[in-house]
Amino acid sequence: LLQMAQRDLTFSVARNENPKSEEERNAILADPGFGKNFTDHMVDICWSEHGGWHRPRVQPYGPIALDPAAAVLHYAQEIFEGLKAYRHADGSVWSFRPEANAARMQRSAKRLALPELPTEYFIDSLKQLLAVDADWVPSAPETSLYLRPFMFAKEAFLGVRAAKKVNYYVIASPAGAYFTGGVAPVSIWLSTDYARAGKGGTGAAKTGGNYASSLLAQQEAAENGCAQVLFLDSAEGKYVEELGGMNVVLVYKDGTLVTPKSDSILEGITRDSILDLARDRGHKVEERRVSIDEWREGVASGDIVEMFACGTAAVVTPISQIKGAEFTIGSADAEAGPLTMSLREELTDIQYGRREDTRGWMV
Ligand code: PMP
Repeated sequence: LLQMAQRDLTFSVARNENPKSEEERNAILADPGFGKNFTDHMVDICWSEHGGWHRPRVQPYGPIALDPAAAVLHYAQEIFEGLKAYRHADGSVWSFRPEANAARMQRSAKRLALPELPTEYFIDSLKQLLAVDADWVPSAPETSLYLRPFMFAKEAFLGVRAAKKVNYYVIASPAGAYFTGGVAPVSIWLSTDYARAGKGGTGAAKTGGNYASSLLAQQEAAENGCAQVLFLDSAEGKYVEELGGMNVVLVYKDGTLVTPKSDSILEGITRDSILDLARDRGHKVEERRVSIDEWREGVASGDIVEMFACGTAAVVTPISQIKGAEFTIGSADAEAGPLTMSLREELTDIQYGRREDTRGWMV
């Protein structure tokens, strides 16, 4: 055991012999979009029941060979993370609160019966990849390199149990500015037919199955002209949970920020950071159950003055309205709230190095 704990996790680096040319890379970085272009390398670390974490390496980006019986293809034993690397004005590259992503991945691993990757290995894996692919971090305003660590059951075995062979990878994808024509409020679709997660389920874990089960509701949202879907609790269909890929925050007229408390939502690192900034400005912050009725009545009475969604991809997105089968909250032409916008600015200023990072969030 001691030997396993002391195993040297020194990365080997196999350089990509056919990396994208500087010209190709610059063309991609000039208009990266999201999630469709990838850097020249990836990280791969193996885990086995008896060997623990071993054979960490950086290798050329490319397909992963899987046995058709690989457990992940059948039973979805998989987890992932998402965070960004930002280029500062002096050219240096920084990630935002990676320890928080490492800790969340460990919680997800526990729930999915996967091995926990120690925080130092997680952070080292990001550093190793960024060391070889640093040129892929764009520098235009509001752009970044999206980092996607993931882990899945690779063992070829059709029995239903936790896999004894698992691999962890990190890939990276340049990301353009989410809002190109300025931050614009979005409409959200209230799903009443589908739930995302239930009590005792996997809602708090970042696991592929949660996203698979959100897709049909997300399609319904798009058909109704909405950017994202809002899920309610599965037991009573009464309490607000979260969006398909973002948390929600409501701002009350006395300056209080309220966000849903639930065991079945993903605890967002953006949400945690925004609430921290608000607390430091003297705002009261409440994490508690919020019913959809409270939300609707609060907006109607003027008690709720702003509402926004938050997550790594779009940082903070103002919500103009919630459209449901039975009622609408807010209105499509509502403008972004001032507190929403100033918290967004403070956070992105820290991430892009335009403001001092007094909390030690940047690594
Ligand atoms: N909820 C869900 C379901 C998500 O997929 C995400 C994005 N990771 C979030 C919330 C926001 O989390 P974070 O702020 O850490 O990106």
